[in-house]
Parts: sequence; C-alpha cells; structure tokens
Amino acid sequence: MTAPPLVLTVAGSDSGGGAGIQADLKTMLALGTHGMSVLTAVTAQNSRGVQGAWELPVDAVRAQYRSVVDDIGVQAVKTGMLSSAELVETVAELLAGTDAPVVIDPVGVSKHGDALLAASALDAVRTRLLPVATVATPNLDEVAQLTGVRVESETDLRRAAAAVLAFGPRWVLIKGGHLAGDAVDLLTDGSEEHWLRAPRLDNRHTHGTGCTLASAVACGLAKGQSVPDAVRAAKEYVTGAIAAGFPLGGGIGPVDHGW
Ligand code: PLP
Repeated sequence: MTAPPLVLTVAGSDSGGGAGIQADLKTMLALGTHGMSVLTAVTAQNSRGVQGAWELPVDAVRAQYRSVVDDIGVQAVKTGMLSSAELVETVAELLAGTDAPVVIDPVGVSKHGDALLAASALDAVRTRLLPVATVATPNLDEVAQLTGVRVESETDLRRAAAAVLAFGPRWVLIKGGHLAGDAVDLLTDGSEEHWLRAPRLDNRHTHGTGCTLASAVACGLAKGQSVPDAVRAAKEYVTGAIAAGFPLGGGIGPVDHGW
C-alpha cells in the first residue's frame, strides 16, 4: 500500500461542518487524498452565521505545522481563515520555507457578513502571504478589500487579476461568481489567460464554496497536475458540490461532498 497524495489545510474550524477545516477535509477525502489540518481559529457557527470566534496562539499554529511537516510531509498546502495579522505573518513565514505548492484563499468575510479576518491583517495578506502563493483564489469582495478594484463586469476581471498579481502570487483565480449571468472565473499568471464558465445554479445552499474550491485545487496540485488543470477540475468539483448543496438548520446549508 502506498500513501495517497498529502494535502494540508491551514484554516479555521466551522462547528456546523459546512465550511473551514471541515469542508477542506471532506473535499480532500472525496478527491482521494490524505487531508491534514493546522487549526488557526475555532468558530461557533451554524447555518445562520458565526456566533463566536477564538484564535489559537501562534505557538500552537507553529507546533501543528512542524508536527505535520517534520514527520509526514506535504505535497500541497491550502490556507483559509487566518483571523489576525499575527497569524497571517506566522503562516506566511512557515510557508515561505516549503517547496510544496501553496493555494491561498484570502478569506475576509463570510456569506453572512461575519468578519473572519481583522482589517488590521489586510496589509500582511498583501505583503507577506500573497507573495508565497502558487495560486491565490480571491472572490470579488476580497479583491476589492485587497486592491481597491471593484469588479462590475467581466472586462473588469482582467484589471482585478493584474492588481492581485502585483502582490506576487504566481497565479490568481478571480472568482466572479457574484456577477450577473454565468459564474465566470478568470485564471491567469499574467501571460496565459483561462476563462472558466459554469451555468449559474439555482441553489442558495452554498456555504463552504470557497473553502471547497481552494482545497480541490490543492488536491490537484498534490497529484502533480498543472495549475490550469487543477483549477479546471476543482471548478467542476465545486459546481457538482453546489448543485448537491442541501438545507440545514434555519439558514444557508452547505455544499455536499457526496455527489
Ligand atoms: N467559516 C470558516 C471557518 C471559513 O473558513 C469560511 C470561509 O472560508 C467561512 C466560514 C465562510 O464560508 P461561506 O462564506 O462559504 O459561508
């Protein structure tokens, strides 16, 4: 028996099981990889929103990372909720020392409008975290927060991509899902452009979409796929997971990984 590809998520926990570490590990299992986790924060969360959040101490984050890397090893890393400037800086410093591809999901605010990153951490995301990314996967709100570029049409996506690439990630995937019409994303490294289109799905149970997409990209990279191939496969996976999203509690239900 040989081990499956090794994928690590550095992210926050969602007690409701829809997003964060829980979505990441489900995605990793569904895609035939071995998922591992470095927990950065714990949220009390359900389908209605985030009721509370607690950061882990920087030493606990460092120790989890060292435990995984020094013994097991990683073939790709994905980051999600990092909460504070101190945690962003710590994670960026750890990831600067890895040869594994790194997918950065620059998580800012949840669908319910709950802040998952302090405003004081934005600068560390721009100057420390994005430079270590193989692929960064911001949505349009995160693009606006990080670059000031407001995307209102597909043509703005190019401008947004250039503004994010200026911070140093090798590739950027701008998720245009909030625009009207098809769900259109732009993947580019500044020279190649890949436009990814999926029909808009009529399902409001989409909690965990961003976490799932970034994790699926990391799984593809851990398997040795190119960035465009990994992103294409991840988009297909997340589209299926959104189509299968189900109601839970009294609010927004999660995407489903068993489709
Ligand atoms: N909770 C945690 C711990 C997350 O990491 C994220 C997104 O990255 C969310 C909640 C938000 O999920 P969504 O915006 O899909 O509802």
